[in-house]
Amino acid sequence: MYKTIKQRVSATWASVSLSALVVGLLLIIVCIITILNIVDENTQAVTSSRLTVNDTVVKNYDIAYPAFHVEKVDQILRNYATRQVEEFWHELGDKKNDPRHFLTLKYTILHYGATTVSVIFHEQKQFYDKPPIASQQRLTLDLKEQKRLAFNDIFKDKPAAAALLGRLLHDYFANETNGQFPSADLQQYQHFTLDLIKDFNLTQDAVVLYFNPHEPSSPQDTQAIAIKRDLLRDILRPSYVAADPDKVKNEAVQPAYSIVKLPRRSATVDPSGKMLALTFDDGPGSLTSRLLDVLKQYDARATFFVIGRQVSGYAGEMKRMAAEGHEIGNHTWDHPNLTLLSASEIQRQFDLTQQAVQQATGGYTPVLMRPPMGMVNDTVATLSAARGMAVTLWSVDPKDWLNRNANFVYNQIMSSAADNRIILLHDIHPTSVDAAIRAIADLRGQGYQLVTVSELNHYR
Ligand code: ZN
Repeated sequence: MYKTIKQRVSATWASVSLSALVVGLLLIIVCIITILNIVDENTQAVTSSRLTVNDTVVKNYDIAYPAFHVEKVDQILRNYATRQVEEFWHELGDKKNDPRHFLTLKYTILHYGATTVSVIFHEQKQFYDKPPIASQQRLTLDLKEQKRLAFNDIFKDKPAAAALLGRLLHDYFANETNGQFPSADLQQYQHFTLDLIKDFNLTQDAVVLYFNPHEPSSPQDTQAIAIKRDLLRDILRPSYVAADPDKVKNEAVQPAYSIVKLPRRSATVDPSGKMLALTFDDGPGSLTSRLLDVLKQYDARATFFVIGRQVSGYAGEMKRMAAEGHEIGNHTWDHPNLTLLSASEIQRQFDLTQQAVQQATGGYTPVLMRPPMGMVNDTVATLSAARGMAVTLWSVDPKDWLNRNANFVYNQIMSSAADNRIILLHDIHPTSVDAAIRAIADLRGQGYQLVTVSELNHYR
């Protein structure tokens, strides 16, 4: 929680003499400074400042802005606040000493990390003879470069950024809105330009875009769409790719945005072509990232049935699996024979693994479960189904765990490859990974689409 200081200045200024006003202001300032020092210790250096501009007899504004104790950043925020007052006065013209007109500026901090901060200013203008006018402005600032960021500034390759964002948003609106999104509006995402984004924020692990998805747009159309930084790793400047953990968790701010899911890669599957699913069990491990590199190189997807207790040690690999379109399945917490366990022990094996995957990937939830050694009974099947996970076995077993010989395993894969096959491999043996890497290149060369198990189930 951020503490903001409530110290509403009472509106009896007109009757107070100027000298009393000055003394009063000084007292308030001393008071605020005292409180700020206490707040400072409790909130890891974010302090709330109040603006005083001495151009009017009547103080017709109540302006709060945060200070992060980074000189130029604080100056930008202060200048922003000052400019709002000056614009308000400009609109008031010769009525700026009339206390019935009032400007209020409050803020919330959406994100406060080591690299960037995102502040939302909430402004309300009250003209005494009109309804109040409320508006919001979002500022994202780089604490190291000490500057306010424009949307363009966060990308290293702007044409690539426009192309990727256009594709992500197109797929998002096409898939997530149950066909409600007008197809004419979808077309604009094929020629997407960065200036369509009116506003943005960086949060701990996402870029939040504010824009109007329809054309022509109205202000009421504005939507907030969050895209995980991982999905944008190829287009973001390096300093914005990594997650930027919140220094202070602000539970009060619940940003209302939709999260763009992983692009639905199945759109690229040709249902009439031949396809098979490579599956890798018992990882993640130290060989997994090499495998991911090769899968990416050949535009191939695979399904990883992971052992829950290994997941936290390979969080980077887990994130890549999710971001690069692979499927992640549940292969239990520590690989027991599930048919020898009680119901509660089986549940624990499933649930701990689901949680580990969700935590490592930022929310990916497996829908497949492969029982260790293929050992399954009615209790296992029922408890798996209750968690939305389909029990998934295989159609080809090259016995790579027994035959630690890359040539042997490669030959097994290639000789058994056929449309609609699910091939069992283990990405913890160097021989298996070597064999898989050769097979991926050659299967692609033979025209196989390498798809996930869920994609295979969908098309076959
Ligand atoms: Zn296994």
